[in-house]
Amino acid sequence: MLLNLICGECIKESMKNNDLFTVEIMVPVSQISESGIYDVICDKGHKTKVAVLNNKFELLFDLGFNGLIDGYYREAVSSFTASLERFYEFFIRAALHNEIKIDVIEDVWKSVKSQSEHQLGAYIFLYLKTVGKKPLLLNNNAVSFRNDVIHKGFIPDKEQALEYGENVRKIVNDAIYEMKTCFGDTLYQAYDHYLPHDEGEEDSYGCNITTILDVRNGPKFQDGDIRNNSLSEMTPSIIAKRNPQRMRFFKEKLA
Ligand SMILES: [Zn+2]
Repeated sequence: MLLNLICGECIKESMKNNDLFTVEIMVPVSQISESGIYDVICDKGHKTKVAVLNNKFELLFDLGFNGLIDGYYREAVSSFTASLERFYEFFIRAALHNEIKIDVIEDVWKSVKSQSEHQLGAYIFLYLKTVGKKPLLLNNNAVSFRNDVIHKGFIPDKEQALEYGENVRKIVNDAIYEMKTCFGDTLYQAYDHYLPHDEGEEDSYGCNITTILDVRNGPKFQDGDIRNNSLSEMTPSIIAKRNPQRMRFFKEKLA
């Protein structure tokens, strides 16, 4: 999986030349990394830093789906699981965001940091408190499937990995829908707070990657957005995104 980034210098240059709306700009790409801050060298040789403005759970789900497309079904299940667990973390942090000081949240988080079952318990009860009902969760079959894959070396087939991915997607999208209703602006404040930040670097830029799980724009997307479809139906467009891309700010390509 490659992330489509931006070169801020190319965009600036283009604005200076007054051709931003007539000239296409090459999109630099990178492998995904832990920090969320990427060193970019574009095809014109500009060296910049780009912060990818997505929450980690959004990127992990795409990483899983790309693995699935390439036939790595065990790895797909592992990334989908990581995505779900990091979503639980995001929900917990967002639910507390404007009520508890951040350093206190950080301190308390340390006591459940390596215990996913404890995090799940916190998620269930914070969901109950903020949304007023029980959240969707993986059912018993999905939980034992996940444990077999992650802990027992079980090798799933494509259909099993897809079904598990859809399961995770439904749980997360259902919760995002409820967060949009119940959290108001706090949702976006928390989302922004936990994005990667590149402190004070003059040559640094930010860009948002279009992901299948998408707090800002989901869970119901505009008409024609491929993300309203099933994962299977999305496959061709995900594969197409792997080709070199050019970015343009104009609606119609000039002849
Ligand atoms: Zn450039």
